Amino acid sequence: MSAPQKTVAIIGGGPAGLMAAEVLSQSGIHVDVYDAMPSVGRKFLMAGKGGMNITHSEPLADFLPRYGSRREQIEPLLQTFSPFALREWIHGLGVETFVGTSGRVFPTDMKAAPLLRAWLHRLRENGVQFNMRHRWVGWDEAGALRFEVSNSDVGRVSTRHVGLKSDLQHHKPDAVILAMGGGSWPQLGSDGSWVAPLQQRGIDIAPLRPSNCGFDIAWSDHFRERFVGEPLKSVAASFGDAHKQGECLITEHGIEGGLIYALSAPLRDELESKGSATLHIDLLPDWSAQRVLTEVSHPRGSRSLSSHLQSRLGLKGVKANLLREALSAEQMNNASLLAATIKALPLKLIATRPLREAISSAGGVTFDSLDANLMIKKSPGIFCAGEMLDWEAPTGGYLLTACFASGRVAGLGALAWLKAQA
Ligand SMILES: Cc1cc2nc3c(=O)[nH]c(=O)nc-3n(C[C@H](O)[C@H](O)[C@H](O)COP(=O)(O)OP(=O)(O)OC[C@H]3O[C@@H](n4cnc5c(N)ncnc54)[C@H](O)[C@@H]3O)c2cc1C
Repeated sequence: MSAPQKTVAIIGGGPAGLMAAEVLSQSGIHVDVYDAMPSVGRKFLMAGKGGMNITHSEPLADFLPRYGSRREQIEPLLQTFSPFALREWIHGLGVETFVGTSGRVFPTDMKAAPLLRAWLHRLRENGVQFNMRHRWVGWDEAGALRFEVSNSDVGRVSTRHVGLKSDLQHHKPDAVILAMGGGSWPQLGSDGSWVAPLQQRGIDIAPLRPSNCGFDIAWSDHFRERFVGEPLKSVAASFGDAHKQGECLITEHGIEGGLIYALSAPLRDELESKGSATLHIDLLPDWSAQRVLTEVSHPRGSRSLSSHLQSRLGLKGVKANLLREALSAEQMNNASLLAATIKALPLKLIATRPLREAISSAGGVTFDSLDANLMIKKSPGIFCAGEMLDWEAPTGGYLLTACFASGRVAGLGALAWLKAQA
């Protein structure tokens, strides 16, 4: 008689959980994916809205430092499933990719939906069972997983549960993969509600914090009324040693966008330790400081300072008004101070925007709690993957790449663990 088929529960149907489901289902394991939402991959689909940047084409030597202080922990994951392997895997789903001018990699049609559709089709063909509207809420005294099931799907998984109390189900699979994401954009499903049950089990969790996030600035009423929603284009931002060129957006509360996200980790850390952080914006990054000073100092005759700045330096609108936010009327007439401010306009950030608005989360299950296969040392047979692990990275495809890779490592780890138990 052959041994009964092993069952793995994967909680969270984002890229990390689905990648683990693929590895396991291809190896003859029965996989149940549980997700709190009515459908899987909602954040993945949202990431596809503005153009799905799935990975980056730069060499691994440049790629790895993007994970900052977690490089050491992420490196083995990317050795198992590299950015190149990820692209090949996407091609295997019938979706072509291209490398943008910045080196970022996108599906040819820039969208996430066709990729997700093809992937889910393949997973279903492999026998993966999707159990939607199943919110995992912790473990019962017997160590079974507890799910709150919202009514419309109750009963779909009735063959595998070991107990059913109205809308609460208990399941005891042979192994578990937790892939419930971080805490940003909770309306898409990942709300960080897994933190409490894991902490109750004694698992070390670094607090979830906003990453790739915006910041609050105390704009004057005048500036806010006129410039909310305005992009600030072709500028450079610097903080400490970090320096980036790009664009950002003036918001009601302050500032956000790609340029700001790129510097957000050190800015957030500074805010946490010192209460405020000062970002410097170069309004004319392609001009030398000397050229700016020469143009500012050029005699302006009877012309107003505004028309002088516009005609000699092309500064108007939001850029010109940012100068007025930083300098008094008297200071605006000091040519050397004005020129220096155009090249390094100080913006005092007073708070980090909340986690729910951030693109991603920092913090999560610490790597010290996990073994090399991403199994929780204190809970053999339970693995973790994706954004719920304690790492962060800038946008640019680095987030998804590490989520896919960690899902693969956790899936392979669960497979090896099940084999060792047999
Ligand atoms: C607007 C936006 C744009 C982005 N763009 C990009 C991009 O272009 N490139 C990039 O690399 N990254 C991007 N990201 C980040 C990327 O989408 C995430 O890092 C990635 O989706 C995380 O994958 P994950 O599998 O770890 O978790 P998630 O994708 O968050 O999936 C977790 C799943 O777990 C489920 N879940 C959570 N809690 C429970 C529970 N208690 N019970 C059951 N199920 C639960 C959720 O419903 C969800 O389906 C973007 C993020 C946002 C918000």
